[in-house]
Amino acid sequence: MAQVIDGKAISAQIKEELKERVAAMKAEGTEITLAVIQVGEDPASSVYVGNKKKACAYVGIRSLAYELPEETTEKELLDLIAELNGRKDVNGILVQLPLPGQIDEDKVIGAICPDKDVDGFHPQSVGRLCIGQPGFVSCTPAGIIQLLKRSGIEIAGKECVVAGRSNIVGKPMALLLLRENGTVTVAHSKTKDLKEVTKRADILVVAVGKPKMITREYVKEGAVVIDVGIHRNENNKLCGDVDYEDVAPVCSAITPVPGGVGPMTIAMLMNNCVEST
Ligand code: NDP
Repeated sequence: MAQVIDGKAISAQIKEELKERVAAMKAEGTEITLAVIQVGEDPASSVYVGNKKKACAYVGIRSLAYELPEETTEKELLDLIAELNGRKDVNGILVQLPLPGQIDEDKVIGAICPDKDVDGFHPQSVGRLCIGQPGFVSCTPAGIIQLLKRSGIEIAGKECVVAGRSNIVGKPMALLLLRENGTVTVAHSKTKDLKEVTKRADILVVAVGKPKMITREYVKEGAVVIDVGIHRNENNKLCGDVDYEDVAPVCSAITPVPGGVGPMTIAMLMNNCVEST
């Protein structure tokens, strides 16, 4: 039976470690502050922002909340970011995505000072990751590396396949696996024979955004399967991009949804905040 990779337990462990580090930093007079900006009242975004604030409070990071109205202009948002970039008492700036249509997301991401880019989305952060320089790394893929390492799964020398090539998951995931000396293939919607490609994987990371698309025909016997997807099915239950019941019996380790990759994203955001000082 497959090892179930427990993201909840691993993220709790990371937050506990960070809490200790933050307390030690406070004792030496260093306070960490994260500015969290939300534009509009998208319910999913409100849940994510609420969870981020809660995690900050738990770890001991001060959070400054900016709740801006839906009709906020691009200039107003850019002006706020410029102000926060200049504030010495603000270590990290997070703008919750997606943004309303009148605001250009790329412009906003590019306006955040790379030293405060705790989401790791700024082109400079991505470039640094690409050429192996230190910098902030996108939280979800960074969390997946922690899941693998803390579960005792070796990456070096393994055939790693990443299904999905988005800027926030697939591409940084591929770069991180490469940094860990995996042999990496990236698949996407134009990949000709996806099953043939994914079946080569010792470690398969799935971020296609399609509920339960990956069944056992896509998976090599004994592979490690990491499911990034998150969806609500017709019964309002959460499921991933992987058909868990079908795949679990054939793989050596697998992340469940919920309780796998999801909890790691916020833990790694907290980690980036601590690293931002
Ligand atoms: P995107 O929609 O931005 O990207 C999906 C990627 O999958 C694209 O590169 C696309 O290819 C590829 N793809 C789509 N359909 C297929 C297919 N049939 N075969 C092969 N490749 C395909 O999604 P994200 O990367 O943002 O997110 C992926 C999933 O992860 C979503 O379910 C999202 O909700 C979840 N997620 C979860 C997080 C967490 O914390 N757990 C954080 C972020 C995302 P192409 O480029 O050719 O279009």
